[in-house]
Amino acid sequence: MPNSPHAPSSPLVVHTQGELDAWRATASGTVAFIPTMGALHDGHVSLARTARGLAQHVVVSIFVNPRQFGTGEDFERYPRTLESDVRALSGVADVVFAPSVDDVYPPGLDLRAFDAGAVGSQFEGAARPGHFDGMLAVVARLFDMVRPDVTVFGQKDAQQVFLVRRLIAAHYPKLNLVVAPTVRDPDGLAMSSRNRYLSPADRVHALALSRAMALATENPIASLPRMRAELEAEPGVALDYLAAVNPSDFTPIAELGDATSIGDVTYIVAARVGSTRLLDTVDVFSSK
Ligand code: AMP
Repeated sequence: MPNSPHAPSSPLVVHTQGELDAWRATASGTVAFIPTMGALHDGHVSLARTARGLAQHVVVSIFVNPRQFGTGEDFERYPRTLESDVRALSGVADVVFAPSVDDVYPPGLDLRAFDAGAVGSQFEGAARPGHFDGMLAVVARLFDMVRPDVTVFGQKDAQQVFLVRRLIAAHYPKLNLVVAPTVRDPDGLAMSSRNRYLSPADRVHALALSRAMALATENPIASLPRMRAELEAEPGVALDYLAAVNPSDFTPIAELGDATSIGDVTYIVAARVGSTRLLDTVDVFSSK
């Protein structure tokens, strides 16, 4: 493990700003930070492994952020599995920061408000009003608490990455953002903490998402209709959105028609499978 020959095999678990600061006072060198909501899977762990190569210390936060869940969403039932999460980060993270809601949002704290703007009300933001404002609020608050040098986010949540990149450019100019690829199960399904909600039958239907995304990789020209057909043909999949967007501004790209080449495109999809909302993303870069 580069840069961290002294990483303890079991991460130190801290819950408060005071405990975090006490650790920080003993740890010289750079810090890479990965915010998560826990219920960790190999996708999260791969982010931490990427972080390992980027800084001397790796901090992973585990916090189910009430502000990014809407009424009727799964905040209460979101899986909370701190013990196994800490085990999963053994030898990978130095510190697990697992604050309470009161630690993150102490009563009386003058929390900075971030407006996710027009991009924040499309796609995921249209389906989940206020979600991205809440996501930006917690990410900024966690950046302020952890004060990292580098942060790693997963490309699977492409719209989140776009908004976090903008937040960092505006408010954290010294912070380096690294985006890591999506980790998938062997059958192609993008790993997600919510996959555990899927019944065995849902799990099979859910593969339509990654099959559709694979079509874009195979032939990005005029792929949207074929992707849509793949998703609509699958029973048990209620498509919310499927779009091709320009990664530089997240604006939708119209159908690519019979163009012979295209610029960079990010394909995004969200669908409900059973009672579970799933996302997937694939980037197709013209320079490839
Ligand atoms: P979450 O706990 O779902 O909020 O995710 C925390 C971080 O892990 C985010 O940056 C996600 O994009 C990233 N992530 C989630 N699933 C995956 C995956 N399958 N592969 C890589 N990164 C992921």
